[in-house]
Amino acid sequence: MAFPDPALPVSDDAPDLAWHADTAEAAAQRLGVDHATGLADDEAASRLTRHGPNSLTERPGKPAWRRFADQVMQPLVLVLVAAGAITGALGEVVDASVIFGVVITNAIIGYWQEAKAEGALAALARSVTTPVTVRRGGQRKQLEATQLVPGDIVMLAAGDRIPADLRLIQQHELHTDDSMLTGESQPVTKDIAALHPDTVLADRLNMAYAGTTVVAGQGSGLVIATGDATETGRIAGLIAAAPDLVTPLTRKMATFSNWLLWAIGGLALLTVGVGLARGGSAFDMFIAAVALAVGAIPEGLPAAVTVTLAIGVARMAKRRAIIRHLPAVETLGSTTVICSDKTGTLTENAMTVRVLWCAGEGYAVGGHGYAPEGAITHDEMPADIDGALREALIAGALCNDASLRHEHGQWKITGDPTEAALIVAARKGKLDEHTLGKLFPRRDVLPFDATRQFMATAHEGDGQGVVYVKGALERLLPLCVDRLSANGQPLPIDRAAIEKVACAYAEQGMRVLLLARRDFNFGQNFRLTVEGIEKLTLIGLVGMIDPPRKAAIGAIRNCHSAGIRVKMITGDHAVTALAIARQIGLNAEKALTGRELAQLDDTALGEAAHSVDVFARVEPEQKLRLVGALQARGEVVAMTGDGVNDAPALKQADIGIAMGLAGTEVAKEAAAMVLTDDNFASIEAAVEEGRGVWDNLVKFITWTLPTNFGEGLVIVAAILFGSTLPITPLQILWINMTTAVLLGLPLAFEPIERGVMRRAPRRLDQPVLDSGLIRRIVLVSFLLLAGAFGLFLLELDQGHSLAEARTVAVNVFVMVEAAYLFNCRSLTRSFWSQGLFSNPWIWAGLGSMLALQLAMTYLPVMNRLFQTAPIGLMEWAEIVAVALLCSTLIGLEKHLAARLARRTT
Ligand code: ATP
Repeated sequence: MAFPDPALPVSDDAPDLAWHADTAEAAAQRLGVDHATGLADDEAASRLTRHGPNSLTERPGKPAWRRFADQVMQPLVLVLVAAGAITGALGEVVDASVIFGVVITNAIIGYWQEAKAEGALAALARSVTTPVTVRRGGQRKQLEATQLVPGDIVMLAAGDRIPADLRLIQQHELHTDDSMLTGESQPVTKDIAALHPDTVLADRLNMAYAGTTVVAGQGSGLVIATGDATETGRIAGLIAAAPDLVTPLTRKMATFSNWLLWAIGGLALLTVGVGLARGGSAFDMFIAAVALAVGAIPEGLPAAVTVTLAIGVARMAKRRAIIRHLPAVETLGSTTVICSDKTGTLTENAMTVRVLWCAGEGYAVGGHGYAPEGAITHDEMPADIDGALREALIAGALCNDASLRHEHGQWKITGDPTEAALIVAARKGKLDEHTLGKLFPRRDVLPFDATRQFMATAHEGDGQGVVYVKGALERLLPLCVDRLSANGQPLPIDRAAIEKVACAYAEQGMRVLLLARRDFNFGQNFRLTVEGIEKLTLIGLVGMIDPPRKAAIGAIRNCHSAGIRVKMITGDHAVTALAIARQIGLNAEKALTGRELAQLDDTALGEAAHSVDVFARVEPEQKLRLVGALQARGEVVAMTGDGVNDAPALKQADIGIAMGLAGTEVAKEAAAMVLTDDNFASIEAAVEEGRGVWDNLVKFITWTLPTNFGEGLVIVAAILFGSTLPITPLQILWINMTTAVLLGLPLAFEPIERGVMRRAPRRLDQPVLDSGLIRRIVLVSFLLLAGAFGLFLLELDQGHSLAEARTVAVNVFVMVEAAYLFNCRSLTRSFWSQGLFSNPWIWAGLGSMLALQLAMTYLPVMNRLFQTAPIGLMEWAEIVAVALLCSTLIGLEKHLAARLARRTT
């Protein structure tokens, strides 16, 4: 097609015209682009300034007032609201206003934390970028999807998310899933012919709309609308979906809160009943019931859980694992099996052709990486590039969708590394893929597909057509009927001998591809079909290395010591897979192939999935069965994937992990976690972080509950013994609110404990608190009761005022909590094992807490508000002594419990 006639009214701002009613050529002309070369770079840049980036304007999610109301509408908070209302009705205005103040402060903190966590998660989700391949200035280029402008020509492949609204200009078996726009779940077969202007959106087969996905085939399209101008952009609200903050743990917490509510209600009724029976006044009893309710409710818990999880998400992101679904943070710590792809995850996916085998001879290929420098030799002498060898290099270069370029002094590739390696090999044989492409123009293509395991292209040659095929040996060798001799003549084929050669290469860890060809007489409407790939002539074999990632070796070792099995699930050959498995330290005793798997029933598959660690020639669909078989044995499975066909397995796995660089958009959407560097070591890092996050959650819960229980116990004891309340409802609220934020939250920043990767994985059904921790919580609750009540009675006994005695009791609570915080920095080791200053937040929180306590004790306005009074140095000495004693006793308990645990294991 020629460049548009400058006289024609050309505009990329075309009004809402029926693009589907235009032919592809007319649409290109209207957008001022030649679809053989695409837009020039400067034109694209000026269009980008005019149209803005190809992204949707974010719509506000839940309105602020709804979010705020949600914080208040929780059962535990409603109890506080009711308590405040009744206290107000009884004329206790100050108390009522402080209770309401707490409700509002709590809601503000919860609202803010939640909004922050949601914002952080959403930002992380956005940070997973969407690369697109476009044709610009006559070259294929990879861009960020946000850089697209109207008039760009976008290449599409299976697994891509359509980045903008496109008028299709070329397609091969292109099928898209348009369900997000049309609700129709069946894939739609695309076509490029012009349609009637009245065709409704769902039937516009020559269009592909932003946000829909390519499920199969290949194609290219002309961008006709970007960003908010796309059909998706027009549908308001679609993109407002906020990340879900509900996780298994928060759900458990909600159940626990409801249970607590009933328990507190029952206890309050009981104590009030007992109190009344013992002659207490109804008013006092009511205040006591309010104190009990506000004391025993762990107001800060839900926010703390969300914050801890959000901090975990941020830490994982730093280690290159982006969490897309919050529950994954918890589940990661329980992972027992990681099923990983080989290529790109355990290996570097930096392919280099090492050998070519043609006409019975092996040729060595020199050089490193993608630099096309190195010689092709035979018996250490430069090889003559002719006959079958030349044909092998041509086949590899033409049956290819990758490209190679020299940029900033480095050789870079676009597309599949396996294919790029073949281009590099051809250049080492002085064959340039661009020249070859002009000599043998491509007529059609069957793109590589992991299920098909081969790729084929049809080319026009001198006088007649030729089809080049490359792919897995087992798949293509049976289709070969003869082989090419050294001078290019067909000879009979000895399949067993070829298999032997391939096996020898694979044993060295090489990926082996078979190259074949077939002459064709193309008719007018020639199309390549899978059925048409038969009666092939074998050209040769090519062996390429893909070195294991060094970091993967250490990461696998760590996983093993953490009780996590690592399984390699690859599309590659069993012998290659075993060789790589051996190099990276996996159990390489045996490999099971996809074909063998298909013959196993569910029980046998379960057994095999458990005992074997290398699975080769596995089709993506079989991954789903493998995940299911492992889960049926009680395993918690993390599974990696990148292709469109991996999506079901990624969804089924407990944690689906997609590759951020090589993964398709469909895989990323199905996954709970995305690796920004595609590296196995990042999975291990995320598991370690997951374990750390869980530890910190348990630490927070173990730290916070005794305060609530201790306060509850103090109130119940006061009523049972007929004593005045040692702490008032207001003082209780003060303790709960300030300590939760200043002392408790810093626990979320605790560094990961040493040795987390030497523990066995946590079972998913394991309760959050084990019996040892429950015992510790009860012990601390009673220590708080004894300390606060004891000093309160002592103060009164020494003739101090009620306000002074209460101030002492409040400070006992705060100081014991502060001391106990250090006990909680590690649940099993001594407090200094974590490094005294490894978490500066603890010290900042402690300092602020002390300042607040001094203010509460000595500032007249605080004295009035909270009914406190200044206390003397002696009192402080007693308080600190109680705190230190409690902390020492808890340390002792921890030490004994750890010794007991060591003895029993
Ligand atoms: P993984 O280990 O990540 O599962 P893989 O890259 O080893 O992946 P696939 O991509 O499924 O596995 O490839 C399976 C087989 O198909 C390879 O062993 C190779 O023989 C063949 N193959 C791979 N890439 C191509 C390609 N671009 N063209 C033709 N054949 C290919």
